[in-house]
Amino acid sequence: MEYEPVIGLEVHAQLLTRSKIFCGCSTLFGADANTHTCPVCTGLPGSLPVLNKKVVEFTVRAALATQCRIAPYSQFARKNYFYPDLPKGYQISQYELPLSTDGHVEIQVDGKKKRIGLIRIHMEEDAGKLIHDLSSDRGASSYVDFNRTGVPLIEIVSAPDLQSPEEAGAYLRKLRAILMFLDICDGNMEEGSFRCDANISLRPKGQKAFGVKTELKNMNSFRNVQKALDYEIRRQTALLDQGDKVIQETRLWDAARGMTASMRGKEEAHDYRYFPDPDLVPLVIDPSWVEKIRAGLPELPEQKKDRFVRDYGIPEYDAEILTSSKALANYYEGCLKIYDQPKIISNWIMSELLRELKRDEREIEECPVPAANLAEMLKMIDEGVISGKIAKSVFEDMYRTGKRAQEIVREKGLVQVTDTSAIEKAIDQVLAANPSEVEAYRKGKDKLFGFFVGQVMKATQGKANPQLVNELLKKKL
Ligand SMILES: [Zn+2]
Repeated sequence: MEYEPVIGLEVHAQLLTRSKIFCGCSTLFGADANTHTCPVCTGLPGSLPVLNKKVVEFTVRAALATQCRIAPYSQFARKNYFYPDLPKGYQISQYELPLSTDGHVEIQVDGKKKRIGLIRIHMEEDAGKLIHDLSSDRGASSYVDFNRTGVPLIEIVSAPDLQSPEEAGAYLRKLRAILMFLDICDGNMEEGSFRCDANISLRPKGQKAFGVKTELKNMNSFRNVQKALDYEIRRQTALLDQGDKVIQETRLWDAARGMTASMRGKEEAHDYRYFPDPDLVPLVIDPSWVEKIRAGLPELPEQKKDRFVRDYGIPEYDAEILTSSKALANYYEGCLKIYDQPKIISNWIMSELLRELKRDEREIEECPVPAANLAEMLKMIDEGVISGKIAKSVFEDMYRTGKRAQEIVREKGLVQVTDTSAIEKAIDQVLAANPSEVEAYRKGKDKLFGFFVGQVMKATQGKANPQLVNELLKKKL
């Protein structure tokens, strides 16, 4: 039987406000444990939450950028459950009346565009953090840090429109890029400011009804999300093929072992006993404020992509990649400021630069070659200082050492040979060494020309100016 995966993703993104969602405590990451706390975020009796307006503004931004509808009237709700990192015994979230619904995000996989629906974007507070120490003097211990308690999150729930791990990866990348373009989330997956849970089920191809789904947690990179989904597709396929049933449950991804393992039976919404939070008034949003926020939205990935195609004349494929993150788009435009050849820069970024970054699993933000240095090197090719071929090895050195091209070229003596007499000498040697090819060429075997060029380049260790080699070879032959 052939199955079709049905995937929906829930993303939790931490908003870049300076203070928490319902109190004035700092949201800064990395402070000493329990120093960013107060009676409100630790849930002391008698304390009352007050909504941070910036959180609402940031959520409206996210909603507008993903074509969601903004509800003029929404409400906070208590999600009740007991856990040591949740001091109140409930999390303030939104349930029946979320701030925004019915949006979408466009993705592109294998050149095909697809629209992924968003069911809702709502606001909620984060829980604290547990630190498990198995080797403490007092035996295995767990500690709780409430600094993260009350940090603002948005939860973005996609429709079950994703049909492969690749689509899931593309969706997450696009969503993260949008939030980062909006300056409302730093997108850092390792520090947990962009987290993703996945729901996945299989159904026989052609069937409309959904199969039983499992929920996957604990995936802290795009790569892990895709791997976990791949694994789960294989696991569920094997179960169904054997005539077994998939159990509705929550499973944890174990990156070290490359597999998912059952964590707990999946709760239903009614297990949480949601009810409207009586400490917070319903949220009424003035449409004129929404319009003001809309007017202040920055250029988003899709718009930037269109502009790159229009203004720089590069193919849509290039533009899609270059606008996949704000930092990469800035890098590209940074190069353009110094070297005005949009397509050449795009080629270098998409091939050489992204290949090196991918191999090292680095982001563009960690690129050891600043945009200005790449642009300078490309200029050196145009000016005839180095050949395009040498440039590739120069670039590898720049990436490895962080040095500028001029420095590497000087140190290694890579300056292009433009001295005609030196090139002529090399040509004479090549022609003398290959008399039968010379004869064949002169009798009309034109294709051999490339062979001679290759030999001359080899003889000059790739340093000869290719244009001069071509000219002089033709003359001599
Ligand atoms: Zn607080």
